[in-house]
Amino acid sequence: MQPDACSQPPSCEVLEAVRPPILTVDEWQQGGRPRCGFNPDWLMPGESLVSILWKFACANALPGDVLMRLLCPDADPLEGVVPLRSAIDFNKLRRLLRLPSNSLCISLLDRTSGDRYHTAFRYCRQCAAHGYHSVLHQLAEEPRCAAHRQRLRTRCPQCHRESPFIINISVIEAPFRCVWCRSHFCYGLLPVRSTMQAMRRQDRLAIQERVLLRLGADTPGMANRNRPGSVPSAE
Ligand SMILES: [Zn+2]
Ligand SMILES: [Zn+2]
Repeated sequence: MQPDACSQPPSCEVLEAVRPPILTVDEWQQGGRPRCGFNPDWLMPGESLVSILWKFACANALPGDVLMRLLCPDADPLEGVVPLRSAIDFNKLRRLLRLPSNSLCISLLDRTSGDRYHTAFRYCRQCAAHGYHSVLHQLAEEPRCAAHRQRLRTRCPQCHRESPFIINISVIEAPFRCVWCRSHFCYGLLPVRSTMQAMRRQDRLAIQERVLLRLGADTPGMANRNRPGSVPSAE
């Protein structure tokens, strides 16, 4: 039996600024496409696929099992998939989110770059408070957030367990929260806006420069600063 999208909305109060049309139960039960794509204005430089999917699920009121079925129908939705380029059907992802290929390419880690990523979800508390998680945060050689200079964490502030860096039902339904105790990864003070504009421009630039430095050579299109999510050179 399908869960009821109206009675069981995803837990996404940290994403409250995102208020697009809500997908009806019939639409997703009939296997139709979500009404709303991913608005490029929500995208931050180097935003990870996990972070993108949290916004997308919230925007479309998609329960985790429905999003998993749309995204990777062959995977066990409880077990999930690691957001690596080699593990995700890229064309299916692009059609679902309706984002340009170069934006999505940077959101996925590449196994060929070496085993230099953390398998646990690694985060900056201030970025989490802005509704942002970066692919940079998963890189082993990045000890601190490029914008806030905070040491990146893998353990929950409350239960001290690690959440996996994976896409499955539990993770999708716990945006910026621990999958075990559901505590927020941020300071729990807010609701905070999840838009690119919520982050200071200097912080967005710092992240963009770090993404280019670390991942630019790996990622088609990353050198184009006019791509969605990039920070304009002058405002
Ligand atoms: Zn940060
Ligand atoms: Zn916890």
